[in-house]
Amino acid sequence: MADIIQLLPDHVANQIAAGEVVQRPASVVKELIENAVDAGSTSIKLIIKDAGKTLVQVVDNGKGMSETDARLSFERHATSKIKAAEDLFQLHTKGFRGEALASIAAIAHVEMNTRQADEEVGVQIKIEGSTVVGQDVTVIPQGTSISVKNLFFNIPARRNFLKSDTVELRHIIDEFHRVALAHPDIHFEFYNNGSELFNLPVSNLRQRIVHIFGGKTNEKLVPVEEETEVVNLKGFICKPEFAKKTRGEQFFFVNNRFIKNSYLHHAVCAAFEGLIKEQTHPSYFLFLEVDPSGIDINIHPTKTEVKFDDEHAMYAILRSAVKHSLGQFNVAPVLDFERDSNLDTPYGYKSKNVNFPTVEVDADFNPFEKENKGKVSVSYPKQERLNNSWESLYVGLEKKSDFSSIEFESEEVTGSLFNEKEDEVSTATYQLHKKYIVTTIKSGMVIISQHRAHQRVLYEQYLKNITVDKGVSQQLLFPLKLNFSHTEIELLKELKDSLENTGFIFSNFKDDEVAVNGIPLNISESEVAMVVDQLLSDFQSEIPESSFSQADILAKAMCKTLAVKSGEILNAASQEALVNNLFATKDPTVSPFNKPTYITMSVEEIDKKFL
Ligand code: ADP
Ligand code: MG
Repeated sequence: MADIIQLLPDHVANQIAAGEVVQRPASVVKELIENAVDAGSTSIKLIIKDAGKTLVQVVDNGKGMSETDARLSFERHATSKIKAAEDLFQLHTKGFRGEALASIAAIAHVEMNTRQADEEVGVQIKIEGSTVVGQDVTVIPQGTSISVKNLFFNIPARRNFLKSDTVELRHIIDEFHRVALAHPDIHFEFYNNGSELFNLPVSNLRQRIVHIFGGKTNEKLVPVEEETEVVNLKGFICKPEFAKKTRGEQFFFVNNRFIKNSYLHHAVCAAFEGLIKEQTHPSYFLFLEVDPSGIDINIHPTKTEVKFDDEHAMYAILRSAVKHSLGQFNVAPVLDFERDSNLDTPYGYKSKNVNFPTVEVDADFNPFEKENKGKVSVSYPKQERLNNSWESLYVGLEKKSDFSSIEFESEEVTGSLFNEKEDEVSTATYQLHKKYIVTTIKSGMVIISQHRAHQRVLYEQYLKNITVDKGVSQQLLFPLKLNFSHTEIELLKELKDSLENTGFIFSNFKDDEVAVNGIPLNISESEVAMVVDQLLSDFQSEIPESSFSQADILAKAMCKTLAVKSGEILNAASQEALVNNLFATKDPTVSPFNKPTYITMSVEEIDKKFL
């Protein structure tokens, strides 16, 4: 038989290799900026169009390339950064594989202009899909400018795979943050579709963090510093009270290279233990300086994972250094014997009107009459509400029309579960361990998770508000000012319309601040920051593709934050209302997060257990 194995032509091999290096425009941004940093630049400009799909351009003032180097740089495995395998253990540069430019040139239209300091003129090279289509002399300042146009022009499948501009832009901003944080001694500029997103002057690390994440960040930062034989550690952590719902601002750099490492992340979280609320995450910007021979950065193609020789020591040092900083700067809570916390005004109550206590008398009450239990109807609790978030159970019930429709639906929908003759089944509810509501049904009993049930009720309510109705808003006397990072503010602007449908009113978008003039009826002022935080976090992690999923994420974020939690005591009326509202929803069996909301147990099953 004839031989069938052949070597792939270079351009095909390059295209395949490109798949590893270039997944999306953000990968191009990362590679080009890293090259600019490696070239010793002091000023780097990033220009993108349409989230990098049309153009990614990086202009630097680094050392530039000779004509030969410029040509060679596009060859696969062409690098000036390592010469032998041993060099891998003494890396001081970002790049070392010599693959980036070759990969990018295989799948885009690339133009490079570059000039070294001692040359009069520079060289211009144009490459399309690995083929050089032009070379010329050019007059440019010292440094290199590389523009990458029409990414994936020759791989339509990959191009179609790209996400919306919003999503791709977010990835680019992430990459930009990572390099910009590691190099405060470089001036960075970033333009998207002609408008300036970032302009970061040369500064120290603290100022760089503040420039990126907004003016209010400064007061949140606590320095961390520790010098040991294994590692020199420096950087900042955020005070525990600013722990966020988002995981966004967590940065480890090893020898100035951004890395992800869940083990070290755990070390930092361990130091924060007991100081921050559950489901919130500490922010940190930590730089580890280690001997390059003690790490292996080669284990992952995109190079964000690093293996340490002595991980356990690293863990212990990190944890104790962070703990030490938290203690030293007095951010760990201390017992204060002077202050009586009973005298503090809860923030959310400051601008509220005083409710005078009243005595309610039910004139129709007849102690000898049997209570009417058979009919399922929504009732308002007579007792004082037990806690603030509880008021959200009655969302929408304030409106007459909703009230009657819910009452009607609940009779119909609950029919199967609660369709009982008066004397057979009592609708009394019982709260078990502040977590579950137990009640009887015809066939036996039902145990409802209060948290999940309430999530379901609120979720449907919010979804309706967002997609159908205009949510009713309560105007705030004094607008609330909330601080966010630049990126978060951009995201909020995008979500503004949907959020306003739920009752929020925003105004005065600044770089790192937004004013809230109105909030949905059912949330209290003190909960606003928490809800918006959750929302941004969900949007950043889930990245919606359509406006429906946007509404969905919004509704989920709000119900996640505002639903009654396990551990909250519910009075009888609240329990009953929750049960009724749950079974009036479209899908009472599962929470919005697809977890069961209740379980049933039939009398037969119970009987069996007694055999
Ligand atoms: P690597 O960075 O892994 O060496 P690249 O494909 O990214 O591989 O780049 C190949 C080579 O091109 C680099 O080693 C460097 O010598 C040169 N180079 C790339 N970008 C620049 C730049 N902006 N300025 C100067 N030289 C550059
Ligand atoms: Mg490189």
